[in-house]
Amino acid sequence: MPEILKGTEVAKALRAELEVEAQTLKARGVQPCGCLIRVGERADDIQYENGAAATFEKLGIRVEKRSFASDVSQDELIFAIDKINADPLIHGVLIFQPLPNHLDARAIRNRLLPCKDVDGMTDLSTIGVYRNEPIGYAPCTAQACIELLDHYKIDVAGKNAVVIGRSNIVGKPLSLLLLHRNATVTLCHSKTRNLREVCKAADILFAAIGRARMIDSDYVSSGQTVIDVGINVLKDGTVCGDVNFDSVAPIVARLTPVPRGVGSITTTVLAKNILSAAGRTL
Ligand code: NDP
Repeated sequence: MPEILKGTEVAKALRAELEVEAQTLKARGVQPCGCLIRVGERADDIQYENGAAATFEKLGIRVEKRSFASDVSQDELIFAIDKINADPLIHGVLIFQPLPNHLDARAIRNRLLPCKDVDGMTDLSTIGVYRNEPIGYAPCTAQACIELLDHYKIDVAGKNAVVIGRSNIVGKPLSLLLLHRNATVTLCHSKTRNLREVCKAADILFAAIGRARMIDSDYVSSGQTVIDVGINVLKDGTVCGDVNFDSVAPIVARLTPVPRGVGSITTTVLAKNILSAAGRTL
Protein backbone atom coordinates (compact mmCIF):
# COMPACT_ATOMS: atom_id res chain seq x y z
CA MET A 1 0.00 0.00 0.00
CA PRO A 2 1.21 3.54 -0.70
CA GLU A 3 1.92 6.17 1.91
CA ILE A 4 -1.35 8.08 2.28
CA LEU A 5 -0.80 11.83 2.13
CA LYS A 6 -3.58 13.21 4.31
CA GLY A 7 -4.73 16.75 3.68
CA THR A 8 -6.37 16.78 7.09
CA GLU A 9 -2.94 16.29 8.72
CA VAL A 10 -1.47 19.09 6.62
CA ALA A 11 -4.29 21.45 7.57
CA LYS A 12 -3.95 20.56 11.26
CA ALA A 13 -0.21 21.31 11.31
CA LEU A 14 -0.74 24.53 9.35
CA ARG A 15 -3.50 25.69 11.71
CA ALA A 16 -1.19 25.20 14.71
CA GLU A 17 1.32 27.56 13.05
CA LEU A 18 -1.39 30.03 12.07
CA GLU A 19 -2.81 30.23 15.61
CA VAL A 20 0.58 31.44 16.81
CA GLU A 21 0.82 33.87 13.91
CA ALA A 22 -2.63 35.31 14.68
CA GLN A 23 -1.68 35.78 18.36
CA THR A 24 1.55 37.51 17.35
CA LEU A 25 -0.36 39.90 15.08
CA LYS A 26 -2.87 40.65 17.84
CA ALA A 27 -0.04 41.34 20.29
CA ARG A 28 1.21 43.90 17.77
CA GLY A 29 -2.21 45.56 17.60
CA VAL A 30 -3.54 43.95 14.43
CA GLN A 31 -6.84 42.01 14.50
CA PRO A 32 -6.72 39.95 11.29
CA CYS A 33 -9.96 40.04 9.31
CA GLY A 34 -11.22 38.22 6.22
CA CYS A 35 -14.24 39.30 4.20
CA LEU A 36 -16.39 36.82 2.23
CA ILE A 37 -18.45 38.34 -0.60
CA ARG A 38 -21.31 36.23 -1.90
CA VAL A 39 -23.81 37.04 -4.66
CA GLY A 40 -26.95 34.89 -4.64
CA GLU A 41 -27.78 31.87 -2.52
CA ARG A 42 -25.91 28.96 -4.16
CA ALA A 43 -25.87 26.09 -1.67
CA ASP A 44 -22.20 25.23 -2.30
CA ASP A 45 -21.15 28.88 -1.80
CA ILE A 46 -23.04 29.03 1.50
CA GLN A 47 -21.50 25.73 2.60
CA TYR A 48 -17.98 26.95 1.75
CA GLU A 49 -18.70 30.31 3.43
CA ASN A 50 -19.77 28.62 6.67
CA GLY A 51 -16.78 26.26 6.61
CA ALA A 52 -14.32 29.08 5.95
CA ALA A 53 -15.89 31.30 8.63
CA ALA A 54 -15.63 28.49 11.19
CA THR A 55 -11.95 27.92 10.31
CA PHE A 56 -11.15 31.63 10.53
CA GLU A 57 -12.92 32.10 13.88
CA LYS A 58 -11.09 29.13 15.42
CA LEU A 59 -7.83 30.77 14.40
CA GLY A 60 -8.83 34.17 15.83
CA ILE A 61 -9.47 35.76 12.45
CA ARG A 62 -12.48 38.09 12.41
CA VAL A 63 -14.99 37.32 9.64
CA GLU A 64 -17.08 39.84 7.72
CA LYS A 65 -19.75 38.31 5.49
CA ARG A 66 -21.21 40.46 2.73
CA SER A 67 -24.04 38.91 0.76
CA PHE A 68 -25.94 40.41 -2.16
CA ALA A 69 -29.08 39.44 -4.04
CA SER A 70 -28.46 37.58 -7.31
CA ASP A 71 -29.76 40.61 -9.25
CA VAL A 72 -27.32 43.04 -7.58
CA SER A 73 -26.15 45.74 -9.98
CA GLN A 74 -22.57 46.12 -11.18
CA ASP A 75 -22.40 49.59 -9.60
CA GLU A 76 -23.59 48.37 -6.20
CA LEU A 77 -21.02 45.60 -6.11
CA ILE A 78 -18.19 47.85 -7.28
CA PHE A 79 -19.17 50.41 -4.62
CA ALA A 80 -19.04 47.69 -1.93
CA ILE A 81 -15.62 46.46 -3.11
CA ASP A 82 -14.27 50.02 -3.10
CA LYS A 83 -15.41 50.43 0.50
CA ILE A 84 -13.75 47.15 1.50
CA ASN A 85 -10.55 48.15 -0.30
CA ALA A 86 -10.50 51.39 1.70
CA ASP A 87 -11.23 49.69 5.03
CA PRO A 88 -7.91 49.21 6.88
CA LEU A 89 -9.55 46.71 9.25
CA ILE A 90 -10.22 44.20 6.42
CA HIS A 91 -7.08 42.39 5.24
CA GLY A 92 -8.24 39.67 2.86
CA VAL A 93 -11.24 39.22 0.58
CA LEU A 94 -12.78 36.26 -1.21
CA ILE A 95 -15.43 36.83 -3.88
CA PHE A 96 -17.42 33.68 -4.63
CA GLN A 97 -17.38 32.76 -8.29
CA PRO A 98 -18.91 32.31 -10.79
CA LEU A 99 -20.85 35.58 -10.59
CA PRO A 100 -24.27 35.87 -12.30
CA ASN A 101 -24.07 36.48 -16.06
CA HIS A 102 -25.37 40.07 -15.97
CA LEU A 103 -22.24 41.14 -14.05
CA ASP A 104 -18.87 41.92 -15.65
CA ALA A 105 -16.92 39.38 -13.61
CA ARG A 106 -13.52 40.50 -14.87
CA ALA A 107 -14.13 44.13 -13.87
CA ILE A 108 -15.42 43.07 -10.46
CA ARG A 109 -12.51 40.73 -9.73
CA ASN A 110 -9.99 43.33 -10.77
CA ARG A 111 -11.58 46.05 -8.64
CA LEU A 112 -10.16 44.25 -5.62
CA LEU A 113 -6.78 45.47 -4.40
CA PRO A 114 -4.21 42.70 -5.08
CA CYS A 115 -2.84 43.10 -1.54
CA LYS A 116 -6.26 41.91 -0.27
CA ASP A 117 -6.71 39.28 -3.00
CA VAL A 118 -6.17 36.19 -0.83
CA ASP A 119 -7.55 33.74 -3.42
CA GLY A 120 -5.56 34.95 -6.40
CA MET A 121 -8.45 36.18 -8.55
CA THR A 122 -7.13 39.50 -9.85
CA ASP A 123 -5.03 39.83 -12.99
CA LEU A 124 -2.25 41.40 -10.91
CA SER A 125 -2.15 38.34 -8.63
CA THR A 126 -1.88 36.20 -11.78
CA ILE A 127 1.13 38.25 -12.85
CA GLY A 128 2.62 37.68 -9.40
CA VAL A 129 2.23 33.91 -9.82
CA TYR A 130 3.62 34.08 -13.36
CA ARG A 131 6.66 36.13 -12.36
CA ASN A 132 7.08 34.56 -8.90
CA GLU A 133 6.72 37.94 -7.21
CA PRO A 134 4.63 38.73 -4.10
CA ILE A 135 2.04 40.99 -5.74
CA GLY A 136 -1.09 39.19 -4.53
CA TYR A 137 -1.58 35.50 -3.75
CA ALA A 138 -1.84 32.26 -5.74
CA PRO A 139 -5.26 30.60 -5.96
CA CYS A 140 -5.74 28.63 -2.73
CA THR A 141 -6.23 25.17 -4.28
CA ALA A 142 -2.99 25.41 -6.25
CA GLN A 143 -1.19 26.63 -3.12
CA ALA A 144 -2.82 23.82 -1.09
CA CYS A 145 -0.97 21.30 -3.31
CA ILE A 146 2.30 23.05 -2.50
CA GLU A 147 1.51 23.02 1.24
CA LEU A 148 0.91 19.28 0.97
CA LEU A 149 4.27 18.74 -0.75
CA ASP A 150 6.01 20.86 1.90
CA HIS A 151 4.35 19.08 4.81
CA TYR A 152 5.44 15.67 3.53
CA LYS A 153 8.88 17.04 2.53
CA ILE A 154 8.45 16.10 -1.13
CA ASP A 155 11.05 18.02 -3.10
CA VAL A 156 10.00 18.56 -6.71
CA ALA A 157 13.29 20.09 -7.93
CA GLY A 158 14.48 18.28 -11.04
CA LYS A 159 11.49 15.92 -10.96
CA ASN A 160 8.99 15.35 -13.76
CA ALA A 161 5.72 16.84 -12.58
CA VAL A 162 2.67 16.16 -14.73
CA VAL A 163 -0.43 18.27 -14.13
CA ILE A 164 -3.69 17.20 -15.80
CA GLY A 165 -6.06 20.17 -16.15
CA ARG A 166 -5.27 23.72 -17.27
CA SER A 167 -7.92 25.79 -15.51
CA ASN A 168 -7.03 29.28 -14.31
CA ILE A 169 -7.78 28.38 -10.71
CA VAL A 170 -5.98 25.04 -10.40
CA GLY A 171 -3.92 23.53 -13.24
CA LYS A 172 -2.25 26.61 -14.70
CA PRO A 173 -1.20 28.29 -11.43
CA LEU A 174 -0.14 24.92 -9.98
CA SER A 175 2.12 24.26 -12.97
CA LEU A 176 3.77 27.67 -12.46
CA LEU A 177 4.22 27.13 -8.71
CA LEU A 178 5.90 23.79 -9.48
CA LEU A 179 8.08 25.39 -12.14
CA HIS A 180 9.25 28.01 -9.61
CA ARG A 181 10.33 25.07 -7.46
CA ASN A 182 12.41 23.76 -10.33
CA ALA A 183 10.20 20.87 -11.37
CA THR A 184 10.12 19.96 -15.04
CA VAL A 185 6.45 20.51 -15.69
CA THR A 186 4.15 18.99 -18.31
CA LEU A 187 0.68 20.55 -18.39
CA CYS A 188 -1.95 18.25 -19.91
CA HIS A 189 -5.54 18.84 -21.02
CA SER A 190 -8.33 17.23 -23.00
CA LYS A 191 -6.40 17.47 -26.28
CA THR A 192 -3.17 15.91 -24.96
CA ARG A 193 -2.13 12.88 -26.99
CA ASN A 194 -0.95 9.69 -25.32
CA LEU A 195 -2.06 10.95 -21.92
CA ARG A 196 -1.54 7.56 -20.31
CA GLU A 197 2.13 7.42 -21.38
CA VAL A 198 2.73 11.04 -20.34
CA CYS A 199 1.26 10.30 -16.92
CA LYS A 200 3.23 7.09 -16.50
CA ALA A 201 6.48 9.00 -17.08
CA ALA A 202 5.77 11.41 -14.20
CA ASP A 203 7.52 11.37 -10.86
CA ILE A 204 4.65 13.38 -9.41
CA LEU A 205 1.21 13.34 -10.98
CA PHE A 206 -1.50 15.92 -10.20
CA ALA A 207 -5.07 15.27 -11.35
CA ALA A 208 -7.29 18.37 -11.59
CA ILE A 209 -9.73 17.23 -14.22
CA GLY A 210 -13.24 17.07 -12.79
CA ARG A 211 -13.83 13.50 -14.05
CA ALA A 212 -14.67 11.01 -11.35
CA ARG A 213 -12.02 8.27 -10.91
CA MET A 214 -10.65 8.75 -14.44
CA ILE A 215 -7.03 8.09 -13.48
CA ASP A 216 -6.72 4.36 -12.95
CA SER A 217 -3.92 1.80 -13.06
CA ASP A 218 -3.41 2.43 -16.81
CA TYR A 219 -2.11 5.94 -16.07
CA VAL A 220 0.38 5.28 -13.26
CA SER A 221 3.66 3.51 -12.62
CA SER A 222 5.52 2.32 -9.55
CA GLY A 223 7.28 4.81 -7.31
CA GLN A 224 5.04 7.72 -8.27
CA THR A 225 3.46 10.32 -6.03
CA VAL A 226 -0.16 10.93 -7.08
CA ILE A 227 -2.02 14.01 -5.87
CA ASP A 228 -5.73 14.08 -6.53
CA VAL A 229 -7.23 17.57 -6.62
CA GLY A 230 -10.61 16.42 -7.93
CA ILE A 231 -13.81 16.66 -5.94
CA ASN A 232 -16.72 14.89 -7.64
CA VAL A 233 -20.11 14.20 -6.13
CA LEU A 234 -21.68 11.06 -7.59
CA LYS A 235 -25.43 10.57 -8.06
CA ASP A 236 -25.66 8.60 -4.81
CA GLY A 237 -23.97 11.47 -2.93
CA THR A 238 -20.56 9.76 -2.66
CA VAL A 239 -17.62 12.17 -2.92
CA CYS A 240 -14.63 10.94 -4.92
CA GLY A 241 -11.59 12.31 -6.68
CA ASP A 242 -10.35 12.23 -10.27
CA VAL A 243 -8.16 9.27 -9.33
CA ASN A 244 -9.47 5.74 -8.91
CA PHE A 245 -7.89 5.22 -5.50
CA ASP A 246 -8.37 1.43 -5.30
CA SER A 247 -7.01 0.90 -8.81
CA VAL A 248 -3.79 2.95 -8.40
CA ALA A 249 -3.06 2.25 -4.70
CA PRO A 250 -1.33 -1.13 -5.30
CA ILE A 251 1.08 0.52 -7.78
CA VAL A 252 2.12 4.01 -6.61
CA ALA A 253 4.35 5.06 -3.70
CA ARG A 254 2.32 7.97 -2.32
CA LEU A 255 -1.30 8.94 -2.79
CA THR A 256 -3.79 11.51 -1.51
CA PRO A 257 -7.30 10.40 -0.53
CA VAL A 258 -10.57 12.13 -1.47
CA PRO A 259 -12.21 13.26 0.75
CA ARG A 260 -9.60 14.33 3.38
CA GLY A 261 -7.08 15.23 0.70
CA VAL A 262 -6.17 18.53 -0.99
CA GLY A 263 -9.71 19.88 -0.46
CA SER A 264 -9.19 19.81 3.32
CA ILE A 265 -6.32 22.28 3.07
CA THR A 266 -7.91 25.01 0.93
CA THR A 267 -9.67 27.11 3.60
CA THR A 268 -6.62 26.89 5.83
CA VAL A 269 -4.53 28.32 2.98
CA LEU A 270 -7.08 31.11 2.68
CA ALA A 271 -6.60 31.81 6.41
CA LYS A 272 -2.82 31.72 5.93
CA ASN A 273 -3.08 34.32 3.17
CA ILE A 274 -5.30 36.57 5.30
CA LEU A 275 -2.73 36.49 8.11
CA SER A 276 0.02 37.20 5.60
CA ALA A 277 -1.97 40.14 4.19
CA ALA A 278 -2.55 41.42 7.74
CA GLY A 279 1.18 41.06 8.45
CA ARG A 280 2.05 43.08 5.36
CA THR A 281 0.17 46.07 6.86
CA LEU A 282 2.62 46.36 9.77
P1 NDP B 1 -12.16 22.77 -15.03
O1 NDP B 1 -13.38 22.09 -15.56
O2 NDP B 1 -12.10 24.26 -15.08
O3 NDP B 1 -10.89 22.22 -15.82
C1 NDP B 1 -10.76 20.86 -16.08
C2 NDP B 1 -9.51 20.61 -16.86
O4 NDP B 1 -9.40 19.22 -17.08
C3 NDP B 1 -9.50 21.28 -18.23
O5 NDP B 1 -8.26 21.89 -18.47
C4 NDP B 1 -9.77 20.15 -19.21
O6 NDP B 1 -9.11 20.29 -20.46
C5 NDP B 1 -9.15 18.99 -18.47
N1 NDP B 1 -9.78 17.75 -18.89
C6 NDP B 1 -11.09 17.46 -18.93
N2 NDP B 1 -11.28 16.21 -19.40
C7 NDP B 1 -10.06 15.71 -19.68
C8 NDP B 1 -9.58 14.48 -20.18
N3 NDP B 1 -10.43 13.49 -20.53
N4 NDP B 1 -8.27 14.31 -20.33
C9 NDP B 1 -7.41 15.29 -19.99
N5 NDP B 1 -7.79 16.49 -19.48
C10 NDP B 1 -9.10 16.69 -19.33
O7 NDP B 1 -11.97 22.21 -13.55
P2 NDP B 1 -11.21 22.87 -12.28
O8 NDP B 1 -9.79 23.10 -12.60
O9 NDP B 1 -12.03 23.97 -11.74
O10 NDP B 1 -11.34 21.66 -11.26
C11 NDP B 1 -10.69 20.44 -11.50
C12 NDP B 1 -11.05 19.47 -10.39
O11 NDP B 1 -10.58 19.99 -9.16
C13 NDP B 1 -12.56 19.27 -10.21
O12 NDP B 1 -12.80 17.94 -9.78
C14 NDP B 1 -12.92 20.21 -9.09
O13 NDP B 1 -14.06 19.78 -8.34
C15 NDP B 1 -11.67 20.12 -8.25
N6 NDP B 1 -11.44 21.31 -7.43
C16 NDP B 1 -11.03 21.08 -6.15
C17 NDP B 1 -10.78 22.11 -5.31
C18 NDP B 1 -10.27 21.82 -3.95
O14 NDP B 1 -10.37 22.63 -3.06
N7 NDP B 1 -9.62 20.66 -3.76
C19 NDP B 1 -11.03 23.51 -5.72
C20 NDP B 1 -11.33 23.67 -7.13
C21 NDP B 1 -11.55 22.58 -7.93
P3 NDP B 1 -9.50 21.45 -21.55
O15 NDP B 1 -8.88 22.71 -20.99
O16 NDP B 1 -8.87 20.99 -22.79
O17 NDP B 1 -10.99 21.49 -21.58
